[in-house]
Formats: sequence, C-alpha cells, structure tokens
Amino acid sequence: MTLSSRLLRLDLKHTWTISRASVDYHDNIFVYLEHDGITGIGEASFSRRYGESLESLQKVIESAKPMLSHANPLHFAEIGETVQQLRPGQNSAKAALDLALMDWVGKKFDLPLFRLWGLNPAKTPVSSFTIGIDTPEIMQRKIREAEEFPILKIKLGTAHDEEIMRAVCEATGKPLRVDANEGWKSKEEALEKICWLEQFNIEFVEQPMPAGRLDDVRWLRQQLQQRRVNLPLFADEDSKTPRDLPTLAGVYDGINIKLMKSGGLHEAWRMIHLARTLGLKIMLGCMIESSVAITAAAHLAPLVDYADLDGHLLINNDPFVGVRMQNGKMTLPETPGLGVRER
Ligand code: MG
Repeated sequence: MTLSSRLLRLDLKHTWTISRASVDYHDNIFVYLEHDGITGIGEASFSRRYGESLESLQKVIESAKPMLSHANPLHFAEIGETVQQLRPGQNSAKAALDLALMDWVGKKFDLPLFRLWGLNPAKTPVSSFTIGIDTPEIMQRKIREAEEFPILKIKLGTAHDEEIMRAVCEATGKPLRVDANEGWKSKEEALEKICWLEQFNIEFVEQPMPAGRLDDVRWLRQQLQQRRVNLPLFADEDSKTPRDLPTLAGVYDGINIKLMKSGGLHEAWRMIHLARTLGLKIMLGCMIESSVAITAAAHLAPLVDYADLDGHLLINNDPFVGVRMQNGKMTLPETPGLGVRER
C-alpha cells in the first residue's frame, strides 16, 4: 500500500471556545492509502489536550509507511493492531490510518462499513448540536442557527456558567446536555454546579472535573444520589481508549467515545462492546472534523445510545460530503467504504 497525506485548514463558522481554549480554524491531516487501484481516505484532528501537534502526527504517519508498504490490506484486523503499536499516544494519527484502511476495505468489498458490520442504519440516535462558549447574544444567535436540532450541548466550566445558562434558557426550551470540559476545579464546585443545573432540562453532565480524579467523581456521584439529584455523569477526557474503561465502571454512568481519542474505528468498536459489558452508557462524539471522520463515526452510531457528531457542521468549508443530517437524524451513505467524496 502507498500512503500519502495532505493538510487542509478547516475554518470555523464561529470562534470555537470551550473551558480551556479558543480557536478560529483547525488544521487537519488527510491520509490516502492506495493499493490495487483503490484509494482509502482517513482524517486526523490533533488535540493539544492529548499531547498532539501537526508535527507529532506527521511523524507517526511517516513511521507507518514502511509497515504499510509491505502489508496486505485484506489482513486489516492485523494491520489495525500494528497501527496501534506504532508509538504511545498520538491516537488521532492512528485514527487517520485506521479510517483510510477501513475505507479501502469497504471499497474493496463494495459495501458501506455499516453493512460490512451488519448494523441497522435506522438505529442511529439523533445527534445533538454543540453551542460553544460566547457572549450571551452570540450564543442565542447560535441557538437560533441550530433550530433544526432537537437536542443541544452546552459548554460550561468557566466563571460565566450562570450567565450562559440564563442566555440559553431565554432562547430555547430544548433538552440540553452540559459539557464542563474539566472546568470545575474541585469536587465541591462540581457538586454545587450540578445541583444548580438540576432545575434545567438536562440529560447528563460531561466531564465535570479534571481527568484522573476518579475518587472525586465517586464522591460526587454519592453526594448527588444522597440529594436525589438524578443527573448522569459522562466521562470524556477520562475515557480515551479501551484501557480506561474498567476503572470508570461504577464511577461514571456513561462515556464519550471519539475516534480521535481511541485511535480509530477498531478501538472505538472495542470500547463500545467493553462499555456495554461494563454497564456504561455510550455517546459517540467528535473533535473539529470534516465529513470524512464524522461519517466514519456515524457508521458506528447504530451501536450507541447518544450521538454528538456535529464537528463538520461547525466549519464553513467542509471539503467532503458524506453522512447527511436532517433535524439531527443521520442518513448513512450507501456508497462503499466510508461513503465520502470530495465536494
Ligand atoms: Mg466533551
């Protein structure tokens, strides 16, 4: 197989702000795996939160070339394992390679991935749409722009949480999901914020505190139970790869799986089945991604409880077309592989 890559800048419709950072664009790397006249495409959206940069991703992609040049893509399960072993971390680069490999496989077998996996495309959950942190006026405009989506995800975790929730509730009565992105710094602050959030129409709260503090999350959950506050807690930054899951069971209620954290479709698949075994609810989320990576995740969506696959809708120059979304409901492409094409 021949591997090549190119960088594309994805421009955000609005400045994207969450509790830890603010950006106007995101540079993603697209990889192409060619063999036998078939080309598979994959995408990497790096995250500084997980120690990644464009340079570190490019190194991993470069390091995969010798192995891939000799590999038989029909042995894709074996190659998937080898890709995970390339070096520690840098999972978005591994995801790009895994996506390209599986796109190639689907095209070779002439089947869309969800068909290859035996999944029912009617079973995809409705996706939420995320409203990034902004001034109350702009957040209200974003909520109006997201009119077709029946569920919204609100980013909290700053000193402006109350102002934000006031602005949101003035603009909409839709069910909400809250993502603190590790922004509440102590278990007491998280408890106070979640008890206050109970008055709103909220489905669950994602990553209330910095990752790695499972004892604090356990304490938080007990306190919430004692106060009869029934807001489920979901892990995101605490839930990167399958290895993280055994310690999260019984601490969190659910997890957010992202291809860029897990290292691709193979690892996300493993996480989905492990989470089911451990009794954890499953959400499929994303980073700032084009239709390539979003569509890849959408092929797994029939297996999960919740979807938050809006990364491609946050940009105004998506170079690709793939999964279609109407009122948050996803229609999976019937063309082989990922089923994406350049615009
Ligand atoms: Mg999150």
